[in-house]
Amino acid sequence: KLYNQVQDLKGSIRVYCRVRPFLSGKPNFVNTVDSIEDGTITVNIPSKNGKGRRSFNFNKIFGPSSGQVEVFSDMQPLIRSVLDGFNVCIFAYGQTGSGKTYTMTGPKEITEKSQGVNYRALSDLFLTADQRKDTFRYDVSVQMIEIYNEQVRDLLVTDGTNKRYPFTKIRSNSNKGLSVPDASLVSVSSTIDVIELMNLGQRNRTVGATAINDRSSRSHTCLTVHVQGRDLTSGTLLRGCMHLVDLAGSERVDKSEATGDRLKEAQHINKSLSALGDVIASLAQKNQHVPYRNSKLTQLLQDSLGGQAKTLMFVHISPEADSIGETISTLKFAERVA
Ligand code: ADP
Ligand code: MG
Repeated sequence: KLYNQVQDLKGSIRVYCRVRPFLSGKPNFVNTVDSIEDGTITVNIPSKNGKGRRSFNFNKIFGPSSGQVEVFSDMQPLIRSVLDGFNVCIFAYGQTGSGKTYTMTGPKEITEKSQGVNYRALSDLFLTADQRKDTFRYDVSVQMIEIYNEQVRDLLVTDGTNKRYPFTKIRSNSNKGLSVPDASLVSVSSTIDVIELMNLGQRNRTVGATAINDRSSRSHTCLTVHVQGRDLTSGTLLRGCMHLVDLAGSERVDKSEATGDRLKEAQHINKSLSALGDVIASLAQKNQHVPYRNSKLTQLLQDSLGGQAKTLMFVHISPEADSIGETISTLKFAERVA
C-alpha cells in the first residue's frame, strides 16, 4: 500500500516542453533547436570553437507544428482527474514571448480552433460531468487572481466602476477550503459562462496595467477551478481543485539597466519563480521540508502541490538563436524539477 503511495507521489510531477514556431514577419532567424525526438530536445549552443550541443529530457515535448488540440488532448486525463477529487496544478513557464499565454489562453484573437488549455479544460469538465450525470452531481466554480509584486488581486470583481481592483489575502486552512476566500468565487455551468469570466478577468487586468506598460508579462495569473461532486447513490462528497497558472516571464533582467519599479518587479519575479522551482524540486526529491512559505505563489498553491496532487510544469521556449541564453536557463529550470 505504502509502496503504491510512494509510486503515486513520484508520478505526480510531470514536465512538458513546447517550442513556439517562428513568427511570421520575422524571417531568416537561425533556429536554436537542433532536434526533437520523443522526450529529448537538443539545442545548439554557440561557443568559441564552433558549435556545441546539449540535450534535455522531459516527459513530453511539443514541436512548433503541434497545435492546441494536440497539446490539450495530452493533458486531458490529468485535467479530468479533478472530477475524481484530485488537485491539479498546471504551470506555463518561460521567457516573455515564448508562448505561455498562447498555450493557456490562446492568441490575441481567440477562435474556437486556437482556444488554449483554460477554455478547453472547462469545456471538457462540463462535458464529462454531463456524461456522469446519472451517478454524480457536480458543481463547478472559478476564481481568478493575479500576483504582482507579491500582492494578490481579485480579477473577477464586477462592481463596474473599474476603480476597485482590490487586494486580497491568502489564508491557509480557511473554513471554505479556499486559499483566497475573499476573492470572488463564481459558479459556472457552461462554456459561455467561462468565456464571459475570462473576458472580465482580462478587462480587470488591463485596468490595473495602465500605470505600467505590459504588466501581463510581469505578473502571475491564476485561474482556479473548484469542483465539488456528490455521488448520487452513496451521498459521498468529493472535492477537487485545479490551478491553471500563466507565470510571469522568466527572463533575467539586466541589473545594470533595471532601476526603480522595474528592478523591484524583477526581484519579485525572480524570487517567486525560484521559490516555485525549490518547492517542486523538493517535492520531486521527496524532501521532508518543502519551502512553501517563500513566496505568495507557493503559499497560494500549498494545498494543491504535493501529497496526492498532480503537477504539470509546462515550459516554453522561443526557437530564435538570439534567445539561446534564456532557452538554456528555462531548460535547466525544467530539468531541475523533473
Ligand atoms: P508569452 O505569454 O510567453 O509572453 P505569447 O503567448 O504572448 O507569449 O506568445 C507570443 C506570440 O507568439 C503571440 O503573438 C502568440 O500568438 C504567438 N505564439 C505563441 N505560441 C504560438 C504557437 N504555438 N503557435 C502560433 N503562435 C504562437
Ligand atoms: Mg503572456
